[in-house]
Amino acid sequence: MNVAKGALSKVMKYELSYLDGCGDFQNMQKELWALQRQTREILNRTIQIAYHWDYTDREHFKKTGQHLDVKAETGYKRLDGYIYDELKETVQNFASVNVNATIQKAWAKYRSSKADVLRGDMSLPSYKSDQPLVLHAQSIKLSENKDGPALQVTLFSNTHKKSCGYSNVRFAFRLHDATQRSIFKNVLSGEYGLGQSQIVYKRPKWFLYLTYNFSPEQHGLDPDKILGVDLGESTALYASSLGDYGSLRIEGGEVTAFAKQLEARKRSLQKQAAHCGEGRVGHGTKARVSDVYKAEDKIANFRNTVNHRYSKKLIDYAIQHQYGTIQMEELSGIKQDTGFPKFLQHWTYYDLQQKIEAKAKENGINFIKVDPSYTSQRCSKCGNIDSNNRPSQAVFCCTKCGFRANADFNASQNLSIPEIDKIIKKERGANTK
Ligand SMILES: [Zn+2]
Repeated sequence: MNVAKGALSKVMKYELSYLDGCGDFQNMQKELWALQRQTREILNRTIQIAYHWDYTDREHFKKTGQHLDVKAETGYKRLDGYIYDELKETVQNFASVNVNATIQKAWAKYRSSKADVLRGDMSLPSYKSDQPLVLHAQSIKLSENKDGPALQVTLFSNTHKKSCGYSNVRFAFRLHDATQRSIFKNVLSGEYGLGQSQIVYKRPKWFLYLTYNFSPEQHGLDPDKILGVDLGESTALYASSLGDYGSLRIEGGEVTAFAKQLEARKRSLQKQAAHCGEGRVGHGTKARVSDVYKAEDKIANFRNTVNHRYSKKLIDYAIQHQYGTIQMEELSGIKQDTGFPKFLQHWTYYDLQQKIEAKAKENGINFIKVDPSYTSQRCSKCGNIDSNNRPSQAVFCCTKCGFRANADFNASQNLSIPEIDKIIKKERGANTK
């Protein structure tokens, strides 16, 4: 496989239809449900054992000032080795590579919440039923023959296969669009690497969540060319670079307008509903009320589409003009009480920024976030920082040198300067002296 270090990974979902390997369809379901229960057990036990270890270690440390030695206490170099040994009796049906992969999944989750759990700020994570089956990359084999694509997967231990007369389980699946097809082809050819994947049950169907790894696109961009990107209120997105001609401006406002439309409609529906007696309207009311509940989903869908379009536009612009770095403001915490539509707008920025970041990485563009303090009050021409530089929301006009521009354009110019946050801190320090 040609996938280099720093590879990115993504997941594609394929709907499976059972071929053979462990009896008829009913029996296959029974076996996979059993594996789901065992998966849950492995996950939860792993977390319990890891917690028990850390708790004991902490108590030991309080008394003696020394940490417990994993090797000396368990005979294993690492705790996951010990966990595997503790669990292996209970998961004899299970292919051992997948037991390991499952342990690693829970162990990683435990480690990420360990500090909070030990402090008592969070209860021990636990997994519910219907857990996805974790598949180590080694247990997956994809192929294609005249009947189409197929998955062969090692789910059971050799002992279990022998005693039940099973072989590896095979599924067929369909490629529904060009993206699904190209990912499958690239995995088959070795262009993409295979990552740890999952088999997921969603009543009444089984799915493969295939993780594939790929290297970022190489466009030969210049990492020292920085594109400053400002997400603004009067303009959705402004991108430019100090000293370069040209800029990208996306007017935006679509999401807020759409949300306002829905909000207005919701209010009028509620008014109508209040005026009409429940009995008289019957089915009509029900339909309208469910309409209201769906508003949030509608906004989210709309925002998703719009933000994909905006972020794609920006990345295309960056590639076309050789920008190897995109610099944006670090978005501060979202306050719940900012009210509509401010709250919505903030979420929209956040979502847009995440999409920009993901697409930048896929295209080998560096993505940098900086502290945005004063980037909207600072003159990008002379460095003068003054709140009076903003006679209105939309206009920037420098009180010192008279530079006048669209306020979001000026902010994007500032954001294209390397380490602008440090520069501003220095400039502010000088101003207050
Ligand atoms: Zn100025």
